[in-house]
Amino acid sequence: MEAFVAGGGIAGLAAAVALLRAGWRVTVAERQPVLAEIGAGLAISRNGLAALTWLGLADAVRAAGHPVAITGQQDHRGRWLMRQPADDPRFAATNRVVGVHRARLLSLLEQEVRRDPDRAAVLLGSTVIDVAPGDPDGARATVHWADAAGERQQAEADLVVIADGVGSKVRDRLLPGVEIAYSGKTCWRAVINDAGATGSGLVGDEFVQLWGPHTEFGAVRIGAGEVYWYGYFVAPAQTRFDDELAAAQTHFAGWSPGVREIIAATEAGRLLRHDVIHLPGGAPSYRVGRAVLAGDAAHALVPTMGQGANLSLEDGAGVGALIGVPVAAGGSLAAAIAAYDEVRRPRGRLIARRSLQTGRLGADLGRGLPQFLRNAVLRLIPTRLVVEAGARVLDWSPDQT
Ligand SMILES: Cc1cc2nc3c(=O)[nH]c(=O)nc-3n(C[C@H](O)[C@H](O)[C@H](O)COP(=O)(O)OP(=O)(O)OC[C@H]3O[C@@H](n4cnc5c(N)ncnc54)[C@H](O)[C@@H]3O)c2cc1C
Repeated sequence: MEAFVAGGGIAGLAAAVALLRAGWRVTVAERQPVLAEIGAGLAISRNGLAALTWLGLADAVRAAGHPVAITGQQDHRGRWLMRQPADDPRFAATNRVVGVHRARLLSLLEQEVRRDPDRAAVLLGSTVIDVAPGDPDGARATVHWADAAGERQQAEADLVVIADGVGSKVRDRLLPGVEIAYSGKTCWRAVINDAGATGSGLVGDEFVQLWGPHTEFGAVRIGAGEVYWYGYFVAPAQTRFDDELAAAQTHFAGWSPGVREIIAATEAGRLLRHDVIHLPGGAPSYRVGRAVLAGDAAHALVPTMGQGANLSLEDGAGVGALIGVPVAAGGSLAAAIAAYDEVRRPRGRLIARRSLQTGRLGADLGRGLPQFLRNAVLRLIPTRLVVEAGARVLDWSPDQT
């Protein structure tokens, strides 16, 4: 069986690894001339690690990253709102994550795809233009792309994985009318050297999230010498500052000393900012003919639960477990594609909804009374209840139906 993957991001490469493990031949087309990720980090949660285990990469990712415990929420001045002590066994199932640099995760996925050149091809500088999705019970799919020389190419495939990100042009052609939207928030992200952050009290082996007026802040260690931080805040779309670092320093001026130290240790050239675009409600279907959607193309989330990349890894493993393996064993492709849609779409919708709900407690709230009320309520809620709700979302395995 042959698959064609449109997009070499986390979802596309994870799907490629999963299909290769199931015995398929795979071609990945990536628009960029090199497989590259922005200089930011991620926290791989329990579900992402379950997906990576299925892909055979969990140990490699653990070795490339740093083990961290999520220990709760603070207000913007650093006072605890909810606390899950790192050594409390009641929270162990949900609070252990691996902080990792995005580029290292992508590179591990890429190496795994390239390990078997007889069955895998990665076409860089290749932009997928169109997909004729075929019929799972009939005609194969046909993929059209422009190669690195700008020449138009085409190939047939038994399965196409559409993983070209939130602004997916391929999805737009196959499922017209799907609308992406600005979340109302933009996000600073940076990786800083360890030396700048030590002593801040925020980035030992713990991951603390701070909620303040119209803003969330978090920092997580992603390696022995590196810390990743993000600041997600309300702003009109396409807001630009002449000096982004000065703007970040001003924005966080009244925040806890740990936050200010981390920002002070940031080099201007390593500070990124992106407006957060999401896909409200997700794609109405994750399948069209022999094509399936994966990653942000299917369900771009707001980042308040840190689940976009984790869900993309789940999708990748899901392509393998729900389609790759059963079809390689002689099962029906049509049934497998339908199962992928039936399993993955509700999962994507659930996490998208939870991410929006989480955001309502965080950056959606302005200064004054909303902060006071939210903080008072959170201090009263037993942390155990919140953690159990989180456990239900993160408790996932690739064979889940
Ligand atoms: C500010 C911010 C913070 C985030 N923080 C977290 C976090 O802490 N934890 C977490 O889990 N997630 C986080 N996410 C979400 C996460 O980054 C995404 O969900 C994840 O990267 C999606 O991966 P993807 O492979 O679906 O898409 P992408 O990473 O967008 O990859 C798509 C790929 O397809 C390629 N492509 C596009 N069009 C074509 C085409 N026509 N032909 C060929 N190739 C094409 C692109 O070049 C790209 O390489 C965050 C997102 C944002 C915006």
